[in-house]
Amino acid sequence: MHRLATALLCACAALPVLSHAQEAQRPEVATAATALQSKLVDWRRDIHQHPELGNRETRTAALVAEHLRSLGLEPKTGIAHTGVTAVLKGGRPGPKIALRADMDALPVTEQTGLPFASTVTTTYRGEPTGVMHACGHDAHVAILMGVAEALVGMREQLAGEVLFVFQPAEEGPPDDEDGGASMMLAEGIFRDFKPDAIFGLHVFSTLQAGQLGVRGGPLMAASDRFNIKVTGRQTHGSRPWGGIDPIVAAADLIGSAQTIVSRRTNISELPAVVSFGAIKGGIRYNIIPDSVELVGTIRTFDEDVRSDIFADLKNVAEHVAAAHGATVEAQVPDATGNPVTVNDPALTARLLPSLQAVAGAENVVETPLNMGAEDFAYYAKEVPAMFFFVGATAAGKDPATAPSNHSPQFDLDESALDLGLRAMLQATLDYLDTPAG
Ligand SMILES: [Zn+2]
Ligand SMILES: [Zn+2]
Repeated sequence: MHRLATALLCACAALPVLSHAQEAQRPEVATAATALQSKLVDWRRDIHQHPELGNRETRTAALVAEHLRSLGLEPKTGIAHTGVTAVLKGGRPGPKIALRADMDALPVTEQTGLPFASTVTTTYRGEPTGVMHACGHDAHVAILMGVAEALVGMREQLAGEVLFVFQPAEEGPPDDEDGGASMMLAEGIFRDFKPDAIFGLHVFSTLQAGQLGVRGGPLMAASDRFNIKVTGRQTHGSRPWGGIDPIVAAADLIGSAQTIVSRRTNISELPAVVSFGAIKGGIRYNIIPDSVELVGTIRTFDEDVRSDIFADLKNVAEHVAAAHGATVEAQVPDATGNPVTVNDPALTARLLPSLQAVAGAENVVETPLNMGAEDFAYYAKEVPAMFFFVGATAAGKDPATAPSNHSPQFDLDESALDLGLRAMLQATLDYLDTPAG
């Protein structure tokens, strides 16, 4: 990881709007951050101690709505199950921006030992489990509640309008339910308020607390699942010629599928991954089974590469199976996956000085491509977007080995709340104050 490359800085310098960007942290941002510091910690700990899974964020949503009401806003609730939005109109004309936080927790049993650790339990896909804010969405909610309070306090001087988006089910809705960013959009949040841009942030263990990470263009991967069923004909293990062996066909298929990324995808431009996660077939040593089921994931950073890999995997599956005399049902992908999260390059370059102003230029890094997926991608397909990362690993701990997001030991350094708030506020105010170039 290195400091933001000159390419991004040059793109930035080419934009005339850069000269309007604030080089230093705005005094109103510093004042608001100081005033809100302990509230942010309290909110985050409260939400952390009461985590809720996707589409079940009723307590969190009520807390958010109550806070927004207390600020004099008129929140809309129950969007995409438990989502909350509110619009703040500034005292001066200006652009429209949306700011998004995700609210859901994960089926993870917390092992942080924190005094406010979650003790919530539930049943998930038939298994008993704890529930934990193991991805840091508790911090995202607290930060956006703070941003709302700060911006309401600046209402008269504020240019333009701000839509606050508190979104459920970023990690995916429960089976057989719809949810998340795509559902918020389907329910019309951008029909009622079409923003000129949207910002979002995510806390990550892979960055040190005090650091921000961003990059223009593709940032987080498209994530798609596939399901391939290879069907042969069951026979005795001693008489393979009496049937069609789907295990050998599946093994061949898995081997051949490795060539899709290694031989057919231009990985000099952007990486891609095809991984098999589970193989299910057979029950006994001397029975060749009738069928084998394979499931896995595809990660890509470009929509064309994404659709090419879908076609290639289907093609390999069908033809390799056919070569063995087996048949195949290939669902590639088997459900709607998240698209690539793409940061608008011009917007990201334009707001880079805002991030540098609050964190210090040396603490803003060009983050590597992240193979994880984010449903923020759906908003970024609708309007220019900037999604950035906030370091979560405390000083003295190594981000390379610190328990990562989704780990039961994921431990957020709470200074990330303050930096996240200041970054979001500074970027928002800079954006609203500067006419688009
Ligand atoms: Zn997550
Ligand atoms: Zn997350």
